[in-house]
Amino acid sequence: MSRDVAVDRVDVAVAGGGLIGLGIAWRCAQRGLSVTVVDVAPGSGASYAAAGMLAPVAEAGYGEERLLELCRASLASFPAFVAELERETGLEVGLRTAGTCVVGFDADDMAALDLLHAFQRELGLSSERITAREVRRREPALTPRLRGALHVGGDHSVDARALHAALLAAAMSAGVRVVRAEATALEVRDGRAAGLELAGGDVVTAGTVVLALGARSAGLPGVPPLPVRPVKGQVLRLRDASGLLEGTVRALVRGRHVYLVPCAGDRLIVGATVEEQGFGDTVTAGGVHDLLRDAIEVVPGVAELELVEALARPRPGTPDNAPILGTSPLPGLVLACGHHRNGVLLTPVTADAITELVVTGALPEVARPFTLDRLER
Ligand SMILES: Cc1cc2nc3c(=O)[nH]c(=O)nc-3n(C[C@H](O)[C@H](O)[C@H](O)COP(=O)(O)OP(=O)(O)OC[C@H]3O[C@@H](n4cnc5c(N)ncnc54)[C@H](O)[C@@H]3O)c2cc1C
Repeated sequence: MSRDVAVDRVDVAVAGGGLIGLGIAWRCAQRGLSVTVVDVAPGSGASYAAAGMLAPVAEAGYGEERLLELCRASLASFPAFVAELERETGLEVGLRTAGTCVVGFDADDMAALDLLHAFQRELGLSSERITAREVRRREPALTPRLRGALHVGGDHSVDARALHAALLAAAMSAGVRVVRAEATALEVRDGRAAGLELAGGDVVTAGTVVLALGARSAGLPGVPPLPVRPVKGQVLRLRDASGLLEGTVRALVRGRHVYLVPCAGDRLIVGATVEEQGFGDTVTAGGVHDLLRDAIEVVPGVAELELVEALARPRPGTPDNAPILGTSPLPGLVLACGHHRNGVLLTPVTADAITELVVTGALPEVARPFTLDRLER
């Protein structure tokens, strides 16, 4: 008996319906390709936990200059991407352009902020060093106990869950079929990726398979070895925060990192822990305690808010914190994974670059530094 009961025969099968997989599926369908997305629970992975910061300049890191360029390219295309999505779906995704304040508390925090500022200026990035008084003029809810700040006017944020809902709607109205099932293996025929095997035995056969399983990308049988690992993040959502903050606040609280991101409606997102714990979505008392302690120190009014959600998800980490984009050692298999802490920000650039690769066979210049072979070298 053949187990090859094809539920679909399509141009592109996308494994994973998080932000990355759906962005690619939408763009591929717009280019006239038939597309099926396979996801056991679309939008339940890291994309569900994300704070939605689009903050490449505030997060600029030494040794990550190439990643910074990719992130800035994606940020530049975000407003048009969002406008198109909102127009096509009628759904709002909560893009905020109020900028980011990065605040510090003690002398060491301020030394770290000065170093970050010097690095930003060296790279020609727009960032302003401001006093404690000036930052409190922008964000009056901040504690008077902070020492100083940077203001990055060009960093934005978006409601990641609303973005996912809009991408799902846009993809489906462009003709993408979403199969809610577990992919159990990559189908390989004659040395080529030929589709996805689903729990229950059905197979989606496809000319190209795009791997976008987030932190689970390395675990699908049949996929060549990939250096993608789970990096757990715990994050909180609080209610009744309307008007509390205008834009994102990132803080160094005597060496500890915390961020506060105002979100759609009256929500405030507080995050996030960074834990090398393997898979697991346990919320710990210590994780919640640390986040709340630091958030309340930065914005005392947080203590009055209602805590409505605490959750943990694995970020798809890679050895250099940058995504893996492009072809794989297996013909027919395209990689779009390992977006680590930047997957929301990198959704537009990933969608466009991978679609271009699928349609034309050529990966655009902006994505070329992020092929798998850079990690194998
Ligand atoms: C706490 C936290 C805060 C974050 N904050 C930000 C932020 O502010 N800004 C930013 O840019 N990024 C942020 N990130 C990172 C961002 O969330 C991720 O990089 C991004 O969501 C990755 O998207 P993805 O589609 O690759 O993966 P995911 O969203 O994890 O999607 C993978 C999908 O694959 C599905 N799946 C897995 N295995 C299978 C299988 N075998 N069969 C079928 N389906 C399967 C899952 O159901 C899931 O829907 C944050 C992450 C975390 C955890």
